[in-house]
Amino acid sequence: MQIFNTMSRRKENFVPIQEGKVGIYACGPTVYNYFHIGNARPFVVFDVLRRYFEYKGYEVKFVQNFTDIDDKMINRANDEGVTVKELGDRFIDEYFKDAGALGVREASVHPRATEHIDAIIKIVELLFKNGHAYEAGGDVYYDTTTFSGYGKLSGQNTRDLNSGARIEVGMDKKHPADFVLWKGAKPGEPSWDSPWGKGRPGWHIECSAMSTVHLGETVDIHCGGQDLIFPHHENEVAQSEGAFGKPFVNYWMHNGFLNIDDEKMSKSAGNFFTVRDILKKYNAETVRMFLLSAHYRNPLNFSEDILKQTEASLQRLYTARDKALFLLDKASGETYKDGEEAIVKAIDETLTKFENAMDDDLNTAEGMGALFELVYIMNTELSGESSKKLVDYALSTLTKICDVLGLLMKDAEELPEEVQKLAKEREIARKEKNWALSDELRDKIIAMGYTVEDTPEGQKIS
Ligand code: AMP
Ligand code: ZN
Repeated sequence: MQIFNTMSRRKENFVPIQEGKVGIYACGPTVYNYFHIGNARPFVVFDVLRRYFEYKGYEVKFVQNFTDIDDKMINRANDEGVTVKELGDRFIDEYFKDAGALGVREASVHPRATEHIDAIIKIVELLFKNGHAYEAGGDVYYDTTTFSGYGKLSGQNTRDLNSGARIEVGMDKKHPADFVLWKGAKPGEPSWDSPWGKGRPGWHIECSAMSTVHLGETVDIHCGGQDLIFPHHENEVAQSEGAFGKPFVNYWMHNGFLNIDDEKMSKSAGNFFTVRDILKKYNAETVRMFLLSAHYRNPLNFSEDILKQTEASLQRLYTARDKALFLLDKASGETYKDGEEAIVKAIDETLTKFENAMDDDLNTAEGMGALFELVYIMNTELSGESSKKLVDYALSTLTKICDVLGLLMKDAEELPEEVQKLAKEREIARKEKNWALSDELRDKIIAMGYTVEDTPEGQKIS
């Protein structure tokens, strides 16, 4: 599999640290609010990355953190008159509800920053020992001029960073690019004991610590949105490599932005839709499919029109599955019929296309193209004449692809008993050529919200 590595700025062959295993660290949400559909993009995209590695036979350890202490958490908790812990607990629950609805599986571990204070302190101690940290004005900073690789991930150099930026009032750091590792306690804020007095961790240090605790000092893949490249991930590299003297991450993956009117969707700009709100209007699988409709590194523009189109595409997937299930019920034949080998070959080609697309830096856009080629084959080639073996093969290929993408997750619906009863009566009426009764029964079924299609294989009710 090829992965575009932000560090080298090119596609590279993926080689895991340990054969057959992959460790992935994904920067997770700050749990002070519901997440918006822009935040949902990395959750969904990297969930597919994980599923695809599993599909390829890897054992995946997927770690996604919760940032449960920072200024936003403190301010929101104060506004609501609750503790930071209560706020975090609440929005972690809400995260699981929305992410679960979108088909994002729970990570192998969901570490929380506040539960890794010891590991954080250990790294800061190592940074002092290695000459990268200093105390100033009650806080602890990273001295970016002591790490020669500073800027290598984002492609900036320390000199430019230091001449371009200003030191904000109230900060005692030596160079503008230096960043906080440990903040001295302020009255009324949660704090922990440390060798530098009571305080709390800076934002970047938590990911260095949680990644090391759960995945070791070097990890296969670290991912997040593009906005995290600088300063968050740049600072993680400086911290982890400055502390352990080893490469921190082998492959860096960053998703492009979800935009609205060509502007990044963000909480601070106020141009956002929470997933919670969108799910009141749209099916979660439609939203998931939309998020996978572009290559993950490209920008993706949000609009309701696109969601509506996606809804129709998703419906085509379900219709193809329904048709196959319907035919499967009627078909027989444990071997292929004459001429079906060519159809099997065409089905195989769509699977190969799908795998090639996913192997090419997780190109879900092309992968979905292959999926819809399969749907086309199913619509045009499967009929009441098809062998059971062929219908089964098409259906299992469809399921294989959809399992990787996390689509077609709803089970085929059982028709309610009342509808089944009417359908049975109508089947008899049709056999007896009692067309008036048959039409009457059809209208009754339709009135109950179902569609009735008469096919050569019998009536099909959806
Ligand atoms: P946050 O809770 O803001 O730290 O964001 C959680 C994740 O969402 C991070 O990986 C961000 O990079 C990502 N993210 C935030 N806004 C967007 C956006 N508009 N499009 C894509 N990813 C985003
Ligand atoms: Zn992070």
